[in-house]
Amino acid sequence: MTAGQAKDPGSGRLDGTVALITGASRGIGRAIAHAYAAEGASLCLAATDRAKLEEVEAALGLPAERTMVLALDVTDRDACFAAVERVGQRFGRLDALVNNAGIYISHTFLDYSAQDFQRLLDVNLFGVIHLMQAALPGMQSRGYGRIVNIASTAGKWGSRNQSAYNVSKHAVVGLTRCVALEAGATGVTVNAICPGFVQTDMVENLKRQYATIGGADADAVVKAALARVPMGRVLDPTEIAGLAVYLGSRESSGMTGQSILVDGGMLLC
Ligand code: NAD
Repeated sequence: MTAGQAKDPGSGRLDGTVALITGASRGIGRAIAHAYAAEGASLCLAATDRAKLEEVEAALGLPAERTMVLALDVTDRDACFAAVERVGQRFGRLDALVNNAGIYISHTFLDYSAQDFQRLLDVNLFGVIHLMQAALPGMQSRGYGRIVNIASTAGKWGSRNQSAYNVSKHAVVGLTRCVALEAGATGVTVNAICPGFVQTDMVENLKRQYATIGGADADAVVKAALARVPMGRVLDPTEIAGLAVYLGSRESSGMTGQSILVDGGMLLC
């Protein structure tokens, strides 16, 4: 089953939950949207491309009162605050925020421009900052909230040719810990997921960019990458979505500040 086809009826683990998912137009975000829908959540699907979001919304097949679509650039702080406001107006509150939107740019450290660093930080880090600052006050005043940040294995170790991306994801892991500490007593949990290689447009982009830098073809890049993964395969986006459901639900009430690897065992060795 691919993310685009998920029709699992679920078992109501997110019944009554109102969730905002960024980067929901494709890849991991779309898979999370399908899993959240199947588990009973009401959804605000956000990303830059409204038409793609509408396709995802149509594929979800939810009743109109359980979905909304929002064209949102997460680098726009005012728009992030307005998005949380819109969710509140539509559904009455926001229970779960999934900060999934992200971009990837690969270069050697010396070839990265300052603009590349800035762009990666603007999307991958500041998008998370803006939305957490917008969502937390309401969650805290209601005494309940779930924040799920999609970081990366790149937030936990060093890797060649993507230092700026790794910096952005290390920052998300650190931010997750710090905000979890401050929110600890308020009923709001803040956790992160650190995926390894997942079959999405981003990983196709990674293959192309790595191949350009290393002078290898994309197949050789994949072979070298998978040699580091004990499971020996690229993960499916649905394999990230399962943990996102757990972290977005009441089941995960006892954990906060964690950044959990879903990487086929990649960082074991
Ligand atoms: P993708 O490129 O397939 O999808 C990215 C999504 O983010 C799209 O919906 C896109 O529209 C959205 N987006 C990008 N910039 C945005 C912006 N400024 N404002 C709003 N939305 C924006 O990527 P993916 O692989 O599904 O990645 C999702 C998340 O998972 C990212 O944070 C990524 O860093 C992380 N991740 C992916 C992998 C992987 O192997 N695919 C591995 C580790 C971490």
